[in-house]
Amino acid sequence: MRRKLVIGNWKMNGSLAGNSALLSGVVAGYAARNADCAVCVPAPYLAQCQTMLNGTPVSWGAQDVSAYAAGAYTGEVAASMLQDFGCRYVLCGHSERRAYHQESSELVAQKVLAALNAGLTPVVCVGETLEQREAGQSALVVCAQLQAVLDVLETPALEKIVLAYEPVWAIGTGKTATPAIAQEIHALLRKQVAKRNAEAAAGMQILYGGSMKPDNARDLLAQPDIDGGLIGGAALKAADFLGIVHAAE
Ligand code: PEP
Repeated sequence: MRRKLVIGNWKMNGSLAGNSALLSGVVAGYAARNADCAVCVPAPYLAQCQTMLNGTPVSWGAQDVSAYAAGAYTGEVAASMLQDFGCRYVLCGHSERRAYHQESSELVAQKVLAALNAGLTPVVCVGETLEQREAGQSALVVCAQLQAVLDVLETPALEKIVLAYEPVWAIGTGKTATPAIAQEIHALLRKQVAKRNAEAAAGMQILYGGSMKPDNARDLLAQPDIDGGLIGGAALKAADFLGIVHAAE
């Protein structure tokens, strides 16, 4: 059975003092530990996570990674650097990176490879915009985004990635996909992976992201192909984040 996984994406939020309170609250409230739990934080706070979370069951990670190993890439952060700070996860291809930083699916695929080469678990984000959904293109868009990653991965690597379906129209908008809509896309993504390797598809954690909150998490997480959540806004308050983690547990 796939274990549930809940990852908080802090986006560009935080301060040393605020993070300290938030991380302490999450560690203290993460009691049952029947689901995995992680936070993906801005890069400058990875050292703080390493100090505060080392030895706890809460993992941490970054929100982006360079496709390059090292060199003249001003502003970029290499996968090996994330590894130095104990990261387990890194988000690849979040819709905000695709939209505001023009990340193509091919670049996202190279970032996934860089993460895997450093022993990190890439969380590959896919999702359609409202315009694309209304044009009936949801399946086409998410499958193309996933395919670009599948195209560069050898079969064994498939077992080392996490997928996240994040409809862009649901991110930060308060409009959550219905459990049925999310389940339909999750099942589609799993089927696409299964065409490459049935075992990898059966074991792959596919998270839902988009205005998931403690009060809608249970119904979403009850769907057979929804294996957890990628949480933005609600990850910034320990009580809300833990409410979702407990729903997953
Ligand atoms: C996200 O940014 O990955 C996200 C899902 O945000 P929110 O939960 O705020 O919609």
